[in-house]
Amino acid sequence: MWTLPLSALDYDEQEAAAVAAVIASRWLSTGPETEAFEREFAVTHDAPHAVAVSSGSSALFVALRAAGVGPGHEVIVPSLTFVATAHAVLQCGARPVFADVISAQRPLLDPADAAQRLTEHTRALLPVHYGGSLCDMVSLRALADQHGLALIADAAHAAGTPEVGRLADAACFSFYANKNLATGEGGMVLTHDESMAQTCRALRSHGRVASSHDKAVGHMAADDVAMHGTNARMTEMAAALGRVQLRKLTAGNARRRELRRLYAKALGEAVTIPLVGDEQVSACHLMVVALPPGSDREGVRAALADQGIQTSVHYPPIHQFSLFAKTAAGSPDTPGLPVTEELATRLLTLPLYVALTDDQIQQVCNALLSALSTQIALP
Ligand SMILES: *Cc1c(COP(=O)(O)O)cnc(C)c1O
Repeated sequence: MWTLPLSALDYDEQEAAAVAAVIASRWLSTGPETEAFEREFAVTHDAPHAVAVSSGSSALFVALRAAGVGPGHEVIVPSLTFVATAHAVLQCGARPVFADVISAQRPLLDPADAAQRLTEHTRALLPVHYGGSLCDMVSLRALADQHGLALIADAAHAAGTPEVGRLADAACFSFYANKNLATGEGGMVLTHDESMAQTCRALRSHGRVASSHDKAVGHMAADDVAMHGTNARMTEMAAALGRVQLRKLTAGNARRRELRRLYAKALGEAVTIPLVGDEQVSACHLMVVALPPGSDREGVRAALADQGIQTSVHYPPIHQFSLFAKTAAGSPDTPGLPVTEELATRLLTLPLYVALTDDQIQQVCNALLSALSTQIALP
């Protein structure tokens, strides 16, 4: 339908062969492929432990639960993120407390604003590595340590970001179909903390200590349920896809890095490009621009759509959704989120995927520049 979609899978016959091999093995859920994917993912990201789960959302849920987040607790999250970040907090029975981002240039959780929103109920910080760029983890770690909080990173955009696991108690990845490492559905908790890893492993399978695969291959283990868990297991098909995708990750991120630089060069000063200059230390998952203040974003999107170019908005701020407006940042005693609210009206996400050609980038930029130059600025 779109000539240039927002994202496209980097799949070939290797993914097909990997899934066919799983089907031939007759073992479909968490087993040897999943274990291999966990090992390889941990090694690639320089961390000792990785726990595969069924989605990025379930990665956040099990990591927050393993960090002790539960009813009565508050968790600081940015509002400029996918709603899953806040839903994981609600799923734990806790309350998301929204904090602002630093600036249009760095739409990442602002440690100073987060610090102002701490209460006696705060139990964790949940920053988002937006677009694959790392948050200010040094400041966030210091804040967490000072107040005895857990620091869980939403790394859904950040597979392959250098040092992504550093300083967090856990980093949570998503392998949803449009992510830079895609398995359809899937996720991973990466951690340096062995007990965090063990608890996540139990939580993903009903709090049970031994897995079905352990039993099938004859490992003896106590059949105990030690905590209230869930089913967040990864399928072997997803793990097999993930292993192939992991081998393509470095080259894929490098190509996205090049494409972001091409975009930046072609767009010049016409727009603000958040996180431009971060490319070398980012997974480069998204190509987000901020249009000039007063731009008619819907008009720009329609002009691009006319040329078959798909766009999106990352993100409509969560605290403005009706579910959250009354319970969190919208409550009268909570200061607003001025940077998030202003920036969110101007954000526009452009196509970014490995198969895009340099010429196609130029085509998108030409369409965007011409849409911006012909539109009448709103009063
Ligand atoms: C995709 C995404 C998630 C959720 O991941 P799923 O695998 O879709 O559950 C969470 N946070 C962010 C920032 C995301 O982009």
